[in-house]
Amino acid sequence: MKKTALITGASRGIGRAIAIELAKNGYHLALFCHSNIDMLNALAEELHANYKIEVYTYQGDVADYGFTIPACEDALDKLGQIDVLVNNAGIAHIGLLTDMSVDEWDNVINTNLSSVFYTSKAVAPSMVSRRAGNIINISSMWGTVGASCEVAYSASKGGVNSFTKAFAKELAPNGVAVNAITCGVVDTDMNGQLSPEEKAELAEEIPVGRFCDPGEIAQTVLSIINAPSYMTGQIIGVDGGYI
Ligand code: NAD
Repeated sequence: MKKTALITGASRGIGRAIAIELAKNGYHLALFCHSNIDMLNALAEELHANYKIEVYTYQGDVADYGFTIPACEDALDKLGQIDVLVNNAGIAHIGLLTDMSVDEWDNVINTNLSSVFYTSKAVAPSMVSRRAGNIINISSMWGTVGASCEVAYSASKGGVNSFTKAFAKELAPNGVAVNAITCGVVDTDMNGQLSPEEKAELAEEIPVGRFCDPGEIAQTVLSIINAPSYMTGQIIGVDGGYI
């Protein structure tokens, strides 16, 4: 049986790891990225060659409704169905809230939260009509506990968590599961601004004593897909015991 997935923010970091994990498991893919389409196309060629899967790539801003809706519709058309939607694209913004401009606030909220609404709006109706599907939102532990100097980011991910719980209730009668993963500190470009000393200090605060590998989030995505469909509306922490 054909298995398909759409993943946003797939060119690097966690999204890339999820694309590789799902390709290994036979999923045909629609991969979205913001700016580095060459990197994404190279990944698509590699996955197609290694795992004999179809891979379609899209470049654009997921915070832009005018890009996201038609791109999702095209992916749905090309893949024939979307079994799994992984809302992974996101940005961080570090700084005092009082120094933040309205444009910077809008950018964080639209990229991290509104984009989840746009992709869900485009993809969920086809899942509902097939009475099957998995929506998995990549969130953050900061959405649960709040991070100092990351108010907009924390608010956006808290919004993703509430979105997940509420949308799960809306779709549960139609056999579609909606869950979120609240990641801890993951070793990606998002933490690239940290010095080695800052990284070591932060790692010491994490009970398991290290950053999360993006592949560990990808494995969690696969576990959610393979879980019974009765599991929905869950906020699953993969944070090394931080919370
Ligand atoms: P990353 O910076 O390596 O990757 C982010 C991805 O999102 C990139 O592919 C980027 O192109 C894409 N993206 C950003 N803005 C976009 C836009 N407007 N339109 C389309 N694509 C856009 O970071 P990552 O760590 O791989 O982050 C992936 C997700 O995991 C994010 O939602 C992030 O908030 C979440 N997360 C990361 C960490 C961490 O410590 N790295 C912790 C918790 C949650």
